[in-house]
Amino acid sequence: MPTSTVKMVLPSSAPGTKRTLRVHRYGAAGARPKAYFHAALHADEIPGLLVAHHLLRGLEQAQAEGRIIGEVVVVPVANPIGLSQHLNGRLLGRFDFESTGNFNRGFPDLTAAALERLRGRLSGDPAANVALIRGVLRTVLAEQAMLRETDVLKRVLLGLAIDADFVFDLHCDGEALLHLYASQWQRDDAVELGADLGAAAVLLEEEPGGNPFDEACASPWWKLRAALAPEGPTPLACFATTVELRGQADVNDEDAVADAAALLRFLQRRGVIAGEPGPLPEPRCEPTPLDGVDVLTAPTAGVLVYRKPLGGWVAAGEVVAELVDPLGEPLGATRIPIRSAASGLLFARMTERLTRPGQKFCKVAGREPLSYRQAGKLLED
Ligand SMILES: [Zn+2]
Repeated sequence: MPTSTVKMVLPSSAPGTKRTLRVHRYGAAGARPKAYFHAALHADEIPGLLVAHHLLRGLEQAQAEGRIIGEVVVVPVANPIGLSQHLNGRLLGRFDFESTGNFNRGFPDLTAAALERLRGRLSGDPAANVALIRGVLRTVLAEQAMLRETDVLKRVLLGLAIDADFVFDLHCDGEALLHLYASQWQRDDAVELGADLGAAAVLLEEEPGGNPFDEACASPWWKLRAALAPEGPTPLACFATTVELRGQADVNDEDAVADAAALLRFLQRRGVIAGEPGPLPEPRCEPTPLDGVDVLTAPTAGVLVYRKPLGGWVAAGEVVAELVDPLGEPLGATRIPIRSAASGLLFARMTERLTRPGQKFCKVAGREPLSYRQAGKLLED
């Protein structure tokens, strides 16, 4: 049994309707380190729901055996709003039908408000500074006035995670190999987690932009550290990562059991759970910069025909896919080759096979930063 299970009620979006979040907690409230997980913030990304199911079973066992040292908070279904969005028989959970945009963008950046209250209050004790900053972050978030259901959902999720030591946002891509997004400041954590998960790509960024959930949790720490450096030591006290659990159709117990076990081993390595995780597996990849990911874009509408498989290696200048004009004219110019600007691994691509002009359809993880990829604008819509 969890230490507690709480239902948190979101503002009713229409008379006669009510949506809730289920929040499970393991370990003693307030114990450290604290880990936070949620799944399917993009509600049509189902692999995380099955991983969370197996994660909860593992935590049940650890709790029964008295092995939970810190605290673990799990929101197994992070986005009941998105899960209710169907159109033409399909679940569409990436963008809010209520027009607030992408569910994983626009989380509040608490840095500026926290900084105002922290000036002149730090001491020479790093642990005391971390506790102070966590308290201030919780306070400034709680003071944010929100009315719309999606905004309240974002505030609630961030409120559960903002004071965690480790934050795991479980997503997936269209068709993909398992990969991670994390900050360059937290390379070691990202590399170890990637090794345990067998990640094919670990993408490190300086500033992704758009304020996704992981950035909202972790970035106040390095922004505050930079601003408050003369006043006292402020460690980076939150490792937050977006874990992309392969593709949307990769929903099976075999992968989900292995992924949940890997996440639990990482918690053991970080002292959240007791027990022997075994030796760290050899990483499958070196981390690469997020600004080295070539996001291939379709110049026109067309039928998308891949020339490279998912998981294939691509050299810069190689043709990754062709766009076919099904109208067939002018004759001879009906296929447009799309080339990669990066040399690297083709690790993710969209599921549809018909493009619109400007549509981003495929990602290749290269080692070298690409000139068109700019900090602050590194994520797709
Ligand atoms: Zn996602």
